[in-house]
Amino acid sequence: MKDRYPTKKIFVGGVAVGGDAPISVQSMTYSTTSDIEATVEQINRLHFAGADMVRVAVPQMEDALALQEIKKRISIPLIADIHFHYKLALEAAKWVDCIRFNPGNIGDKSKIKEIVKACQDRSLPIRIGVNAGSLEKEFDQKYGATAQGMVASAEYNIKYLEDLGFNDIKISLKASDVDRTVDAYRMLRPKNNYPFHLGVTEAGTLFHATIKSSIGLGALLLDGIGDTMRVSITGELEEEINVARAIIKDSGRSRDGLNIISCPTCGRIEADLVTAVEEVEKRTAHIKTPMNVSVMGCVVNAIGEAKHADVAIAYGKGSGLVMVKGEVVAKLPEKELVDRFVQEVEKFAEENA
Ligand code: SF4
Repeated sequence: MKDRYPTKKIFVGGVAVGGDAPISVQSMTYSTTSDIEATVEQINRLHFAGADMVRVAVPQMEDALALQEIKKRISIPLIADIHFHYKLALEAAKWVDCIRFNPGNIGDKSKIKEIVKACQDRSLPIRIGVNAGSLEKEFDQKYGATAQGMVASAEYNIKYLEDLGFNDIKISLKASDVDRTVDAYRMLRPKNNYPFHLGVTEAGTLFHATIKSSIGLGALLLDGIGDTMRVSITGELEEEINVARAIIKDSGRSRDGLNIISCPTCGRIEADLVTAVEEVEKRTAHIKTPMNVSVMGCVVNAIGEAKHADVAIAYGKGSGLVMVKGEVVAKLPEKELVDRFVQEVEKFAEENA
């Protein structure tokens, strides 16, 4: 795995993005933002699920005006997503922690200057969010909705802000397929050191979005590219956070929590392993201490895996072993194994926190 690309560190509220900061996870609410109750409820759900920051759409002035009250009632950084109307950005900038807008779709330079000044006054970063589906006309005509077009748009928007003396910037380059998304991020990465917000946009339902995001964002993370990310899923809010966290962890960019090794379907399994692993996942989801555990269905590979695991179960017929660091600590009937395993995991986590 390559080292992480050395990017500038910026701050979205209290959350650092880029540099040596952990890769953060974000999502977006689907309520009408001016419906304050619904928006606060969704933001709090995302916060509880483990989001580091949340973005809300601001298409109307009533949405921008709702941000003051929303901000009072949440304790996670808030990002306003603005298109076309600079007055929405000016109102939002009074309350939020970051603005997502592209200078290219605001138009008039004096209006862009006003937004930049409002962000400078409150030390707010700006995300330039390039989307292959809405490139500025000139880049769309010249390159079409390609990775080259996305990179050209990003460079144009970056220069716009830099020329105004603004460089608290993060950048996203999203397309609805993995290929263009990965190409665009890889192409732009060596050209500046701003932190990157990763995402494959409009990626579909949980199943397909998980696969597209795992391939695309996983490949970029292995390349050392990516400082914050959103997994886009046509689904429930919490799913985006769970999948994003899993991609960061399984790409090796975070060691937090359990790395669970378990058997695939196999004719030698001597227990209800699916239920056991699901229960283990659920009951240990709160643990942050990095550790390797294995839940194995028979003795063939169980002892070998257990030697590399901090805590392990090896199932046999009607009973099994619980092991810690390769040493057997209990031999129990099948129905008691998960309870004892979870106890040992919690103990190990506490001792090694
Ligand atoms: S450890 Fe046993 S049950 Fe698991 S995959 Fe290997 S042979 Fe199958």
